[in-house]
Amino acid sequence: MSDVEARLDELRESGLYRRMRHVSGPQGSRVVLDGRPVLLLCSNNYLGLADHPRVREAAADAAMRWGAGAGASRLVSGTMTVHRRLEEALAAFKGTESSVLFGSGYLANLGVVSALARLSAPTHPDGAVVFSDELNHASIIDGCRLARAETFVYDHCDVEHLAWGLKQHRDRPGIIVTDSVFSMDGDVAPLEAIVELARRHGARTIVDEAHGTGALGPGGRGAVAEAGLEGQVDVVVGTLGKALGAYGAFAACSASMRDYLVNTARSLIFSTAPPPPSAAGALAALEVLQEHPEMVERLRGNADAFRDELAREGFEVAGSTTQIVPLVVGDADLAMAVCERAIEAGVFAQAIRPPTVPEGTSRLRVAVMATHTREELRAAARTLGRAALQAGFRPGAGVPVAAAQPAGHPDERLPAPLRSAAA
Ligand code: PMP
Repeated sequence: MSDVEARLDELRESGLYRRMRHVSGPQGSRVVLDGRPVLLLCSNNYLGLADHPRVREAAADAAMRWGAGAGASRLVSGTMTVHRRLEEALAAFKGTESSVLFGSGYLANLGVVSALARLSAPTHPDGAVVFSDELNHASIIDGCRLARAETFVYDHCDVEHLAWGLKQHRDRPGIIVTDSVFSMDGDVAPLEAIVELARRHGARTIVDEAHGTGALGPGGRGAVAEAGLEGQVDVVVGTLGKALGAYGAFAACSASMRDYLVNTARSLIFSTAPPPPSAAGALAALEVLQEHPEMVERLRGNADAFRDELAREGFEVAGSTTQIVPLVVGDADLAMAVCERAIEAGVFAQAIRPPTVPEGTSRLRVAVMATHTREELRAAARTLGRAALQAGFRPGAGVPVAAAQPAGHPDERLPAPLRSAAA
């Protein structure tokens, strides 16, 4: 047996083997999954824009006008009219002076975090310290690794722990980085307190609005806007492949920060510019969102209603305040069993297991869309409740997320394990 096969066997035995499920037809609130029609409850296409007629048309027109690909990186010959237009529209939407596109959210975080961590390094022999929430996305963790930056991992959303860390490293330049909406838990970072701490300690801030853009704040402008912090975060990262229904990402920031990122972010410099159809699709999606802010209200209303329905089925949903609702089961095999039972009954909510989430907190990560009907959500909550019981899991008996996370005095705090992205 080869080492590859041996490792795959190991993954199967520990309940952590992954395979890709196949969706035929376009993305929507209902899809055909491996040949079976299901209600889709784990997509980040929160506003249903991925298959919106105007978004599709814009992508198709862009392909006819500008072609399928950009052919080179932004700094060679890949910067095209549609990129400039989208960057201007995104900066206006996020209330920043400027913005710059990246190939994906993963690439944006990799580039932004590593570029900012290196920025401060030459001025201090020990370099900058990156302060990172323990549940930050894998791309942020990888950005720290790319910069070989010293990282202080603070307990999830714990501003006291963060303040303690900042004090311990008060002689070093600091960068605080956090998801705004946590992708596997659906809770929101304490952004006001974080920005205030950054101000007090002279640290820079990066906020990843992958799941906040289009979902939170006035007109879907994000959690930063909801907290009244527009213009007060050094770099806001947003993605175009989630609520905006296309593909790619952006960093919204000042003009000089944009210039710095263009000159130093390796994932921008060494990668082909986003394809024109994706950029045009995202631009059209942004226009639709701005013309129809009621979509965001609908998403919010659906999320609130669905959390109520899930609570009625006995699920513990109090941690989430957004469109992402984790149904924590605990054991990886059990989470998979619940997921499979639900699919058989026509509801698809993917099971998420380590290393994407901490050991012992495997879960169904449920994501609501604005295009779900209330009746669909009511029925789906009942289906999930039944699927859990059939698989041998009683809703409400799961491991509370906080209990399964590493804790302890900051002195004893170990860096969070590296996690890989799944959503
Ligand atoms: N940040 C967060 C918080 C995410 O959840 C994701 C996607 N899973 C990303 C960044 C990466 O974005 P993309 O899928 O565009 O690479």
